[in-house]
Amino acid sequence: MATQNEGAKIVAFIPTLTLRRYEICRKCGFDWNVSKQTRIPQDGYLCPVCMNKKENVK
Ligand SMILES: [Zn+2]
Repeated sequence: MATQNEGAKIVAFIPTLTLRRYEICRKCGFDWNVSKQTRIPQDGYLCPVCMNKKENVK
């Protein structure tokens, strides 16, 4: 039965939801877990990697 496994999955997810959340970078499209306090710009989340790249490109 798959039901028991799914229950365990949900329980495992609770700390993730309370402490962290996932944002998809608008540039590379990867999921990044960001802290709850992180402010997401209106035009989309930009991960640290893409943020660095952006600084390098003039
Ligand atoms: Zn990115």
